[in-house]
Amino acid sequence: PARGEQVLDVRGITRRFGGLVANKDISFTLQAGEILAVIGPNGAGKSTLFNQLSGVDTPTAGEVRFLGRSTRGWGPARVAAAGLARTFQHVKLLPTMSVLDNVALGAHLRGRAGLLRHALRLDRAEEARLLAEARRQLQRVGLGDLADRPAGSLALGQQRLLEIARALCADPAVLLLDEPAAGLRLKEKQALAALLRQLRDEGLAVLLVEHDMDFLMTLADRVVVIVFGEKLTEGRPAEVQRHPGVLEAYLGA
Ligand code: ADP
Ligand code: MG
Repeated sequence: PARGEQVLDVRGITRRFGGLVANKDISFTLQAGEILAVIGPNGAGKSTLFNQLSGVDTPTAGEVRFLGRSTRGWGPARVAAAGLARTFQHVKLLPTMSVLDNVALGAHLRGRAGLLRHALRLDRAEEARLLAEARRQLQRVGLGDLADRPAGSLALGQQRLLEIARALCADPAVLLLDEPAAGLRLKEKQALAALLRQLRDEGLAVLLVEHDMDFLMTLADRVVVIVFGEKLTEGRPAEVQRHPGVLEAYLGA
């Protein structure tokens, strides 16, 4: 998609779990070349929302439109294959395998249509293609020099970058990141922010869930605030930070 083109259109998403309304009538859009943050206190419904977007879960009402098409009924593999890639709140790695193999394998298993069918009988050409792509994406995220290290030897910040490299192998239009800055040191957060800006400037749409406001202030182009499952407000970081409801939700003011 060209910069500025709408890639994601979230229309009135509601998700109920029994009597609990985890997401209530949430709407927003996302454009190519934009970093959008979804913030909110613990339990606000951020991960639930992400699960609706990535096809892991289905909304009770409303719809997600990706590149102009409703994704209802698609499931996570089809959503990923269509170009919406995600990372998880907790990094999932095979610690004794190399960084490179982790990226290639992850990309393979989650990747495009029919890949699982071939997983057990990967031919040489396909394997070489995957490894070359994995190496290219590792360089893109700044981990090129660590490709041969065991993944378990990486610092947490580097593991997060590895996960992003893995997601990028599918050549997504949208990158969904669930709390990418959680647990990172300041230097690691800065490296992550620099990478996300670079990806944004290359035309990717980046959507992240985060509750580290300091991290988002200089990074996000736009912020959607969710409180108790509902969208409270939306705007530039400095605007939403001044919103009385946001202060109340975060500070109990
Ligand atoms: P956040 O990611 O913002 O911390 P979540 O989306 O994980 O919040 O959770 C929102 C609410 O939905 C919480 O009250 C949580 O307990 C509830 N919830 C999430 N997933 C489920 C589920 N599968 N079944 C029942 N309740 C759930
Ligand atoms: Mg969460």
